[in-house]
Amino acid sequence: MFLNVLMIFMVKKIKVPFNYLPYEFKNNSKIISRWKRLISSTQFTLGPYIENFENKFSNFIGAKYCISTNNGTDALILCLKSLGIKKGDEVITVTNTFYATVGAIVAVGATPILVDCDDRYQIDHNKIKSKINKKTKAIIPVHWGGASPNMQNILKIANRYKLHLIEDACMGIGGKYQNKSPGTFGIVNAFSMHPLKSLNVMGDGGMVVTNNKKIASWLLKYRNHGMVNRDKLEFWGINARLQPLQAVVASYGLDKIDKVIDKRLRNANYLDKKLSFLNPNVIAPKRDKKNIETNALYMILCKKRDKLKDYLQEQGIETKIHYPIPLHKQKPAKKYKFKKNEFKTAEYQSKHLLTLPVHQFLSIKQLSYMVKMIDNFYKI
Ligand SMILES: *Cc1c(COP(=O)(O)O)cnc(C)c1O
Repeated sequence: MFLNVLMIFMVKKIKVPFNYLPYEFKNNSKIISRWKRLISSTQFTLGPYIENFENKFSNFIGAKYCISTNNGTDALILCLKSLGIKKGDEVITVTNTFYATVGAIVAVGATPILVDCDDRYQIDHNKIKSKINKKTKAIIPVHWGGASPNMQNILKIANRYKLHLIEDACMGIGGKYQNKSPGTFGIVNAFSMHPLKSLNVMGDGGMVVTNNKKIASWLLKYRNHGMVNRDKLEFWGINARLQPLQAVVASYGLDKIDKVIDKRLRNANYLDKKLSFLNPNVIAPKRDKKNIETNALYMILCKKRDKLKDYLQEQGIETKIHYPIPLHKQKPAKKYKFKKNEFKTAEYQSKHLLTLPVHQFLSIKQLSYMVKMIDNFYKI
């Protein structure tokens, strides 16, 4: 025992940062030179830089129409708006997602109906049917953390009850579900290019994709004030355009996304394997092996979560919690009177989940140090 503890204290501290942005944009000469061209062209709103990126994204994702937006939240709002979802309508989604999924539903005046998640942290498809009634208009499954829910069954439910399917694929760029990209199953779907997503820009960016020509044509106008051209308006719209400067960053990111996903996948596989030896103190993510996950969030279930988090911080390892308070318990959710006992899995996970760094700039040395420190925590 004494020797054990002694050895633990002899390990040299290594920094394991969660934030990869300082590494990602260290070498930015390619971006700067493309920016210089853009600046001299003065194409600062829409124009060729946006069109080129949208076409490239469309090829990559495998969707006919891609309409870029200024962020993922607006992409979700545009999805809902394009289907005419409004006050009095109900939209079903999951309680463990980012605020924006529900925020978008509320922004169009509709009522969010939340369901619990499963042991893969995804919307529990078995709990959707009981929430459907005459007011239900759409289901928004979320590809949470870059993994995918059971889209096959969710599609079946949507078809059977004639509901719109809108995917929140904000974390899913570069992933695959049954050989297709997340965000290509629903009628109209949303992606984000926020700095912490798999394809990221230097600020905000988003994308709406659809194979439906009518929806695409409405979206193109709505995103740009409802304009047909400079002098003619078809309906009242908004300005939700992506900045061409960001389209340049996104286009550059899309060139190397496969490499990024691959490296994250290898890091995740390494952690899955090593952490499996720490069961039952630590439970590595359960995976649907047929799919390719983006590993946007590498989440473990662990005992004494908050103490482990503090311990890892002391050892130089930065971790996060996504999220300590599930949406049904947040202040603005009070008015919907969600019942706490309907969200047992999400409640449990909010107390035991820890998100570990898994990004593409981590070395095996850093990963193995992290595993060792987690192991140490349960030994001392
Ligand atoms: C990031 C994210 C959003 C919001 O995207 P923004 O670009 O930050 O507006 C919505 N839903 C999910 C699941 C996300 O991860």
